[in-house]
Amino acid sequence: QAKDKGRNNYQFFKPEMNVRAVERQVIEANLRVALVRHEFFLHYQPKINLKTGEITGAEALLRWQHPQWGMVPPIRFIGIAEDCGVIVPIGRWVLREACAQTRYWQDSGLDIATISVNISAVEFRRQDFVAAVNTILVETGLPPTCLQLEITESVLMRNAEGSIAILEQLKNMGIQLAIDDFGTGYSSLSYLNQFPIDVLKIDQSFVQDIGYNKTDSDGIIVSAVIAMGNSLKQKVIAEGVEEQEQLSFLKDQHCEEGQGYIFSRPVGAEQFEKLLRQRVMTQIADVAVFPN
Ligand code: C2E
Ligand code: MG
Ligand code: MG
Ligand code: MG
Repeated sequence: QAKDKGRNNYQFFKPEMNVRAVERQVIEANLRVALVRHEFFLHYQPKINLKTGEITGAEALLRWQHPQWGMVPPIRFIGIAEDCGVIVPIGRWVLREACAQTRYWQDSGLDIATISVNISAVEFRRQDFVAAVNTILVETGLPPTCLQLEITESVLMRNAEGSIAILEQLKNMGIQLAIDDFGTGYSSLSYLNQFPIDVLKIDQSFVQDIGYNKTDSDGIIVSAVIAMGNSLKQKVIAEGVEEQEQLSFLKDQHCEEGQGYIFSRPVGAEQFEKLLRQRVMTQIADVAVFPN
């Protein structure tokens, strides 16, 4: 036994494994108290109609401001929150905050058609998910047609039949449904047609390929997804648009909406409200007015 060989003998663990496991536990413990300590807030990234330049809505993105660690990016904690289940109360907080904020903007006379909220696999699969969404809509007074739920392609495909049943309940409530990170989750095309989906969000990895290799095949996946979405009557949104060349390509291909740093990074509620008052993102006219 390791114990017999001395108190500080950790021979059964590789040091990095140990550090990783401890780090996970520390993050988990901190996540469990982050909600009551009000350490979470939301950033909003505008979604832009590529024809008119108008803001059609926003995607709400979770931010964690830890008192000692500073800003912790979602990639560092969402997976841990899912594994230990705290994603459920956190996800409900996100949904409520995003819906309440959007209702507030609408009540202030600002034009915002939809708010998009990311839903994790753990939330989506829970028995009480649909009821919880309904409760939040009723409590915040946001019309269901103004809420768009983003679910990744890989989550939907994990149990395609089960997913269809849940999506249909949400659809019947009037909620809009989007497939996030489209192109990364190996959808069978036969299922894609059966999901009652309103929006396809092309993953940013494909968008960032446009104009990168300087060959004729650049953007070929993006064109194919836009064509498919257009014929399935699904709105296509390109994620991660950073460069003018990408934007021009997307407009040429009749991609309906875009999101990305070229328009605006995700920003706090006050900053987003300023963008809403401005309404039009004039990068569409090839002039950047919101440099970040
Ligand atoms: P996502 O839903 O695909 O969100 C898009 C991510 O791309 C965001 O990263 C956004 O800040 C980033 N992004 C936007 N425009 C650009 C661009 O032009 N270039 C580049 N390089 N990146 C861009 P973020 O905020 O770090 O979020 C990462 C992921 O974390 C999200 O991917 C989503 O899967 C997850 N996430 C964020 N908020 C939530 C939440 O409230 N709940 C759940 N379950 N997941 C969330
Ligand atoms: Mg998303
Ligand atoms: Mg995405
Ligand atoms: Mg993603």
